[in-house]
Amino acid sequence: MSDKYDVVVIGSGPAGYVAAIRAAQLGLKTACIEKWKNTEGKGVNGGTCLNVGCIPSKALLDSSYKYHEAAEELAVHGISTVSYTHLTLPTTPYV
Ligand SMILES: Cc1cc2nc3c(=O)[nH]c(=O)nc-3n(C[C@H](O)[C@H](O)[C@H](O)COP(=O)(O)OP(=O)(O)OC[C@H]3O[C@@H](n4cnc5c(N)ncnc54)[C@H](O)[C@@H]3O)c2cc1C
Repeated sequence: MSDKYDVVVIGSGPAGYVAAIRAAQLGLKTACIEKWKNTEGKGVNGGTCLNVGCIPSKALLDSSYKYHEAAEELAVHGISTVSYTHLTLPTTPYV
């Protein structure tokens, strides 16, 4: 690769992409390099936070809360979910 850049950011997690976006906003020719690949070999941006940390963990927490509510707490409202609640978990990871 023979292109020249003013700024090269290594890593596209929250630290990297914010730095790269800001550098580009300031008019600097910017590259952001990421090594993470998904199971299909495609590049994955966003780092830990977007792909395995903050966002997926909160989604799982919300899903588990909703499951618990459906399985355990709806009966008090006269709603039976005994024959309806079951888990369909993804068989592949998020990325
Ligand atoms: C389960 C979990 C839950 C979390 N929940 C929260 C939350 O609710 N709120 C919160 O504020 N924080 C949370 N965090 C922390 C948050 O994810 C991290 O603070 C944040 O991701 C750090 O960002 P970063 O850019 O420094 O590093 P990362 O997100 O780890 O990004 C670094 C990137 O650099 C890439 N990289 C590394 N070396 C190279 C190389 N040599 N060449 C190219 N690329 C490279 C990596 O592949 C990665 O994509 C959580 C973390 C975890 C694990």
